[in-house]
Amino acid sequence: MITRFAPSPTGPLHLGHAFSALTAFERAQAAGGTFLLRIEDTDRARSRPQWEAQIYDDLAWLGLHWPQPVMRQSERRAAHEAAIAQLAGRGLVFPCSCRRADIRAALSAPQEGAPLPAGPDGLIYPGTCRARGMDSRQPGDALRLNMARAVDALPDLSFFESGPDHAGTHSVPPSSLIDSVGDIVLGRRDSADIAYHLAVVVDDGAQGVTEVTRGRDLFEATPLHVLLQHLLSLPTPAYHHHRLIRDDAGKRLAKRDDARAIATYRADGATREDIRRMVGL
Ligand code: GLU
Repeated sequence: MITRFAPSPTGPLHLGHAFSALTAFERAQAAGGTFLLRIEDTDRARSRPQWEAQIYDDLAWLGLHWPQPVMRQSERRAAHEAAIAQLAGRGLVFPCSCRRADIRAALSAPQEGAPLPAGPDGLIYPGTCRARGMDSRQPGDALRLNMARAVDALPDLSFFESGPDHAGTHSVPPSSLIDSVGDIVLGRRDSADIAYHLAVVVDDGAQGVTEVTRGRDLFEATPLHVLLQHLLSLPTPAYHHHRLIRDDAGKRLAKRDDARAIATYRADGATREDIRRMVGL
């Protein structure tokens, strides 16, 4: 059993991260398995070395340990590009020059004022650039997956979930992703930035992860990840989506909630047992 904690170094770790990391670590220990740490620093504009250093420090303070070297997604560019090339070689990728505003305008045209359709990758792409070939790619274009083509001839997307909310085996017909997810971005415009959904699947595969432990908020993205695993001939791991840690108002904690940063509690003299208690462990 191999599981992982995969934080993005874009802010301080807070109580929600502590719960996620402790959950993954303890699941690995209970199974006699391995706990891996992966730094998801694909958002180069927001990632900072100081936050990465703080992640190592906070996790060690919480009593966690992990094998070295740690995988950093910013060093995985060749593997991510190879995965996109593999999909493009099968005619599943198209270049896209649409700006966010273009997409919003195209989506709102038929029904003014109606809520715009969205899925785990944001707004459902209206298809403006879908007919473009890769040979028309311009600098600054994003790359998208042609979802209707991608789901063609695939078996049902099945995965096992052991988390508290959705425990059991799930099976999703691939064609449902055409409307519920759409033509996701694989690589972003104007940079080598790789999209989260592609990077997470490629890197979990490369690390031999057999159980993905992460927050309940990513449950809806899982059929998409299973789809990408099929397309890239990677095994589908088991999933454990854990509960989210909320603030006193019941809101999910976000990176900007510095007041609940582990570093702040540490500076105030909290012990790791205090942190465990605060997250209900
Ligand atoms: N990097 C993501 C985050 O910080 C987690 C991704 C995952 O566990 O699949 O929320």
